[in-house]
Amino acid sequence: MSSEKLLASLSQISDETEFFTPMPSGYKPGKTKYVIVFGTVMSGLGKGIFSSSLAKVLQDKGFTVSPIKLEGYLNHDSGTLNPYRHGEVFVLDDGMECDMDLGTYERMLNTDLTRQNFVTSGRILSAVLERERKGAYLGRDVQMIPHVTGEVKLRLRNLAVTSEADVIFVEMGGTAGDVENAYLIEAVREMAHEEGAGNFCFVALTYIVEPPTLGEQKSKPAQLNLRLLNAAGIHPHIIACRASQPVNKKVREKVALFANVPMDRVFSMHDCDSTYVIPEMLRGAGIDTAVMDLLGVVDRVDSRSEERERATWNEYIKRFRNAKFPITIGIIGKYTTVRDSYASIIHALEHAGTHLGAKVQLKWVDSSDLSEATKKAKLEGIHGVIVPGGFGLRGVDGKIACVKYVRENKIPYLGICYGMQIAVIEYARHLCGLEHASSTEIDPDSSHPVVDILPEQKKIEGLGGNMRLGGFDVVLKEGSLASRLCDSAELIRMRFRHRYEVDPVYVEQLEAAGLIFSGKAPDHPIMQVLELPETVHPYFLATQAHPELTSRPLCPQPFFMGLVNAAMRFANAPAELIKPWPAMPDIPHSQSSHSPNNDSSHISEAGCGADSCR
Ligand code: GLN
Repeated sequence: MSSEKLLASLSQISDETEFFTPMPSGYKPGKTKYVIVFGTVMSGLGKGIFSSSLAKVLQDKGFTVSPIKLEGYLNHDSGTLNPYRHGEVFVLDDGMECDMDLGTYERMLNTDLTRQNFVTSGRILSAVLERERKGAYLGRDVQMIPHVTGEVKLRLRNLAVTSEADVIFVEMGGTAGDVENAYLIEAVREMAHEEGAGNFCFVALTYIVEPPTLGEQKSKPAQLNLRLLNAAGIHPHIIACRASQPVNKKVREKVALFANVPMDRVFSMHDCDSTYVIPEMLRGAGIDTAVMDLLGVVDRVDSRSEERERATWNEYIKRFRNAKFPITIGIIGKYTTVRDSYASIIHALEHAGTHLGAKVQLKWVDSSDLSEATKKAKLEGIHGVIVPGGFGLRGVDGKIACVKYVRENKIPYLGICYGMQIAVIEYARHLCGLEHASSTEIDPDSSHPVVDILPEQKKIEGLGGNMRLGGFDVVLKEGSLASRLCDSAELIRMRFRHRYEVDPVYVEQLEAAGLIFSGKAPDHPIMQVLELPETVHPYFLATQAHPELTSRPLCPQPFFMGLVNAAMRFANAPAELIKPWPAMPDIPHSQSSHSPNNDSSHISEAGCGADSCR
């Protein structure tokens, strides 16, 4: 039976078959190819980086690609996950709170993703249970197979229809052998069978250990864990061996033999200095060709597109390697022990540093250790400061002390979300005479709640829940620093994740004392960007948004560009290194614009105003 007929027969619940594979309308079997990336041995192998790099290489070759991450955990989304344990919560333009890997995909593919690109077991099971309540399973007992696996397959095919991608990249969360992922693995196994040969490519990432006591690479954990995939019915077509050093031939031979994979499809994927060099590494190893061979799409490569995109990307890498002027940016936060909780900020600083020729070093300062007494010593040697997003009370006094110090000592400052609210509190306390000014998040009984929850605005915005989430427009004040940084844009789009905001009642008083609110929501009095005049402070800018989420290698976020530029000046960089103020990137931009979900074509989404970002 052809796969088309097979699929048609499976898509209806009937007495004729035990199986059930709901099919979205418009789905054409065989049209979309799928690359599935599994992890074995352990988590943390960089599946997201691998998968996004491979997707980028195919995108460069002219294929339309769309990634999806399947998470085994039961949370509905990543919104309630502690960044200390799971890394940052990445927010998409449509408001989806998801895993930090989605940030990797957006940066690598220069694409805005949607909630369709991220699925958790929680959402899959909720959908199945909801359908059961509606009686949609027609009296059948609802089972992991076929109903839950059917839901997984439905989501993959839905993405194929809506994204119109040539190739979908599926990243399996967790590792082979995890109980919680077993049904996800089963779903893709079934789907590969249904779609027929040549439409699925299974890639297993594995890990080669090198115990220091032995001083040699060992493949046994890889062998045994690849067997777990085999036991689940998955026979990988390609194996990528992660390791700290290049994986030697002997070890690759063993992996090939025990996993039943030809030697020329077992690759070494060892550590390198930047995630952005991985696409080149994959090309060099020939993984892209192996994937295209297996999917039968080699003849569809657009070499001109590849050449152009590759040149642009390599120019970025060259600049990254040449960016040598050292500056130190202090990140004042709570989760400073786990860098993953600030992943996008680290990337955004790297993007800006690369474009401006600075090597950005980070100094992590735990805000709990900061006080009036310690701030000078703790902030010594820092050329710029970021107070990033945060929640709750811990370390708040330290953050306020820090903002006062950088404001008074003219140290470049970028406040992000909580960092903007802290700046408003500090300004109100010390320049407006509102001694007890605070946020109701910090002090619910504050006599001057300059930052507060404003439910009526939430109602106006018509948002569910009580978080303001996702992309919103920001109107920039003409001639302001914020606007000039964004290429004199009047309107930009930024991503938000906050519950509290500046109470408009205090805006006049704050402005009279010299603070400028240079970015506001178009229709509501929501303060979204603030700054101090450059005559007062070289760079004091804060935003209620999360500018780090929309920074891309080829399109650095302007507020980060401003911070790095100001920090270079502060560090007395030689004049020839300093770009005109406000600095804009002059790297040739990628020709292709990959923003399928951005309907506001007039708005600069990632913000730098370049064509590739619109
Ligand atoms: N806690 C603040 C709020 O909820 C800031 C949030 C954030 O920094 N993401 O508004």
